[in-house]
Parts: sequence; structure tokens; C-alpha cells
Amino acid sequence: MMFDKLVYISDKEDVEELKKKFGVINYNTPPANFKEVDAEWVAKQSTFRTYGFKYHWYQQIFIDTDKQSTIRCQQLKGMHFFGSHDGTGFAMYTDAWTGRIRYFSFAGCIHEYRKLTEKEYIEHKISRGMHDHSGICKKCGYIYYYNSSG
Ligand SMILES: [Zn+2]
Repeated sequence: MMFDKLVYISDKEDVEELKKKFGVINYNTPPANFKEVDAEWVAKQSTFRTYGFKYHWYQQIFIDTDKQSTIRCQQLKGMHFFGSHDGTGFAMYTDAWTGRIRYFSFAGCIHEYRKLTEKEYIEHKISRGMHDHSGICKKCGYIYYYNSSG
């Protein structure tokens, strides 16, 4: 069982971590690779159902308000962000007027994994049993590891 301490971003040091890990530039700029997704994406693709999230923060972001209109209309909306240890995450905007929830995904890096080398397995003390799974991102160096034995 894994227990992560939830980091609530509140001071300058934490903001620097957000910038590095998720590509946040400032309070009104969304994290890198920010795009609207649906509830099915959150259920199937986010780390919410597996590893959950480690970071929680609040930002005000400009988002499209009327997708049907030919004129682009954006409004500044407050939303909560949930970031995982791997630099990916999702955000939720709750509209109190319509009772609707909108979801957004983001990723500090769109990971491209490769197998670890012999040296990397040793260096990072990663086991290689029948149920062990691991990889390293070719772009940012993030290493994932999990054991699927239950
Ligand atoms: Zn990466």
C-alpha cells in the first residue's frame, strides 16, 4: 500500500516545483500540453484510478466558454489542478450556474518510454522479477516502476 503526502502548493518553493514538473509559467497560464478532455478520459487515462495524485493547486485560466460560436469567447475561470508524480495530471472546473463539470488534462512531458539499461537497473535499485514493470522516458528521464503481483 502506498501513502503519498499531498502537497498543497502555497509558497514560492512549491511554485518552482510546479514550473519544473508541469510546465506552469504563471498563475493565469495553464500547465504544458493543457487540453479539454471528458469524464471518460479522467476515468480511463488519468492516474486518478491507479496512483492518484501528489500535488493539488488552484489557478485561474482562460478557457473557451462557447464552443458552438464562430467567435472565440474566453473567460477567466478558477479551477483545481491534480498533478501526479510523473508530471501528468488533470484539472476540474465546476460551473455553479449550469451544474456542469469540465475536465482538462496536462503533462509536463509527453513521455516516451524505453527499457532501462543494465547500469540503470543497478543505479536506481530496480528489481526485475516476473511481475516488475519499468521504463525510463527518453525525453525527461522520468522512471516508472510498479509490481503487478498485487
Ligand atoms: Zn518524459
